[in-house]
Amino acid sequence: MNDYKVLLFYKYINLKEPELIVHEHLQWCVQNDIKGRVFFASEGVNGTVSGKADNIEKYKSRLKSYPEFKDLWFKEDFADEHVFKKMHVRLKNEIVSGDLKDVSLEHGGKRISPEELFHLYKEGKDFVIVDARNWYESKIGRFKNAITPPMKNFREWKKVVDENLTDYKNKTIVTYCTGGIRCEKASAYMVESGFNDVYQLDGGIVNFIKKFPDTYWEGGMFVFDERRVVNPNLKEELKHIAQCHFCGKPTSYYINCHNIDCDKIIVSCHRCKVGNDYCCSEDCRKSKNKRNVIHG
Ligand SMILES: [Zn+2]
Ligand SMILES: [Zn+2]
Repeated sequence: MNDYKVLLFYKYINLKEPELIVHEHLQWCVQNDIKGRVFFASEGVNGTVSGKADNIEKYKSRLKSYPEFKDLWFKEDFADEHVFKKMHVRLKNEIVSGDLKDVSLEHGGKRISPEELFHLYKEGKDFVIVDARNWYESKIGRFKNAITPPMKNFREWKKVVDENLTDYKNKTIVTYCTGGIRCEKASAYMVESGFNDVYQLDGGIVNFIKKFPDTYWEGGMFVFDERRVVNPNLKEELKHIAQCHFCGKPTSYYINCHNIDCDKIIVSCHRCKVGNDYCCSEDCRKSKNKRNVIHG
């Protein structure tokens, strides 16, 4: 139990020849049984990987051996096994796809620590907290009173800011995402759009729930790996904010409908997902184009 680790990391930094790292990085990871996905671009690195604890230590040293990454911040979690099936290393144009290449990181929101955010809540300060993640992520978990935009993907962030958030230009804003990477540019775009007092949660939700479980984070945290969701809270009333699509019971679990033509994300408890053949509806159960391999 728990002899595996999961790492989450990113860094915006100028890489001269990211394509040179990609190949050797993949090879090294395969040789050392590291799985996950890592993106390199001329603007930096973004990755999440899993491996045996000792391999993960080697992995961290390996990445830190690049001068550009010597101060890389790894957010770590324990796991019972690999949380990825394969290793993917890719060369990308942006390390997070958001059509925000033209936004300057220097305009990013001021960093707010988990401790500072905790105190904003505790002291009942007047602030607006905005989720920079997609609708299906915030559906299963969010900060107390957060605005959760109905984004299908991060490329819609500009639209959300321009259309839904303009009333808050003179408010204190805190943006958050899973590990902090999306907020770097999400908050910068807000500053560039004339928002006056913008903060970004440093290290993201991951950093907060480790320090302050059972407080102002409600529900589960969506993750893009085999765990699907991380549940930081033990208090019954803070465990789940979503309900099973089928039976209505509180849960934070979700699946993709196994009708490939549908593929909709639905919140479902374990019992109901099995009972419904991993499909969202009767029609989807009857589809001829269903996944062969059950996933979730
Ligand atoms: Zn159910
Ligand atoms: Zn469906």
